[in-house]
Amino acid sequence: MDFTVSEEMQTILGMVNEFIDDEVIPLEGEMLHGDSETLASGVAACQAKVRQMELWAPNHPSELGGLGLSLVDHGLLSEALGRSPLGHLVFGTQAPDAGNIEILHTHATDQQRERFLRPLVEGEIRSCFSMTEPNMPGSNPTMMETTAIKDGDDYVINGQKWFTSSADGADFAIVMVVTDPDAPTYQQASMILVPTKTPGFNLVRNVSVMGHSGSGHASHAEILYQDCRVPQSNLLGHEGAGFAIAQERLGPGRVHHCMRWLGIATRSFDMMCDRANQRQISPEGDTLGSRQVIQHWVAESRAQIQGARLMTLHAAWMIDQVGAKAARDEISAIKFTVANTMLDVLDRSIQVHGALGLTDDTILSYWYRHERAGRIYDGADEVHKTSLGRRTLAQRARSVEAKSG
Ligand SMILES: Cc1cc2nc3c(=O)[nH]c(=O)nc-3n(C[C@H](O)[C@H](O)[C@H](O)COP(=O)(O)OP(=O)(O)OC[C@H]3O[C@@H](n4cnc5c(N)ncnc54)[C@H](O)[C@@H]3O)c2cc1C
Repeated sequence: MDFTVSEEMQTILGMVNEFIDDEVIPLEGEMLHGDSETLASGVAACQAKVRQMELWAPNHPSELGGLGLSLVDHGLLSEALGRSPLGHLVFGTQAPDAGNIEILHTHATDQQRERFLRPLVEGEIRSCFSMTEPNMPGSNPTMMETTAIKDGDDYVINGQKWFTSSADGADFAIVMVVTDPDAPTYQQASMILVPTKTPGFNLVRNVSVMGHSGSGHASHAEILYQDCRVPQSNLLGHEGAGFAIAQERLGPGRVHHCMRWLGIATRSFDMMCDRANQRQISPEGDTLGSRQVIQHWVAESRAQIQGARLMTLHAAWMIDQVGAKAARDEISAIKFTVANTMLDVLDRSIQVHGALGLTDDTILSYWYRHERAGRIYDGADEVHKTSLGRRTLAQRARSVEAKSG
């Protein structure tokens, strides 16, 4: 395997990193302390510049106007954009839209492409993905209560969802619903496209997370679907294909998240090093960085980040080569390893900043609040460890058995 970054990709990464440093990071103050309208206009101005640079939504397949990147290159880009919480939004590659675009691109009908996919790709609208329910275990989504029942030419949807990220201000939701409770377990659910203006789509609240309800793209909504009626032509793929489509969304999606987390880890690490070099802790001018414990944190963080990056690029390379199904061990391993690496480095960086690290004068506390979730969504640590452990034991048993004849 060869992780040489092509010259073209090096140029793109150079442009992206410079833009994040010069244009996007300065907007973070508005995100942390300003009002949402000023932030929105700042983001829109940056997005316009990104379009002028012809770097809008570079992750999309070339048929959709993107750069048609391999997953490895896409991962490198995601790491660069992840250095600011606004990076992906400014470049049009933000979750959950990026994942929704992938599945719409593969499964949408012509009519759905025109109504939902095209404006989403253009950045004219946002979307959300509505699967998790408060009263059911998200870790086992085959247990789901939300139903869609056929009535005439329509589906009528009823149920309660929460943690539908970015529903606030979204134009439509892709909703996971039970369409046939009597079908085999993994064929009971389907995905349906629901415009958020549809009567019966009720956004109850943006759920408060660690003291902040958030708004717009940075929020997680509770939604009540009450006799929410949409045409049957809004079914995505065929009836019963919900889990199969969800699976497609998750493999590459985990690589995107992991590389974004590495962007967070890298910036937190740089901030930790800068603070350790600058903070004087004695009248003689000793800096924090002169202390061995800090040097060890720096060394451990650097090694952890590099290990996690290579693991993730390897998983991306595997998906590029053999597909997500064959790479599922690698995907499980990066999901819990990188989430914990990111949180370890973030925590050390906060510790090195002392009281400052807890304030909203730096980006660290924002990430601490928002990114703890990385160990829970897209498969909690324990779920990935259980499946990786179980498969590893079975693989070992098969190989011992094969050798012993
Ligand atoms: C910030 C954030 C954003 C999210 N965005 C979205 C979104 O946009 N759309 C959406 O539909 N959902 C979203 N989710 C929901 C997310 O997918 C679920 O939280 C996740 O699937 C876990 O489900 P749960 O919260 O119901 O926890 P549960 O399934 O109740 O699990 C709770 C805990 O139990 C443990 N556990 C569970 N199963 C096992 C097991 N088999 N073995 C051992 N331990 C286990 C784990 O520690 C787990 O954290 C989001 C969540 C967060 C926090």
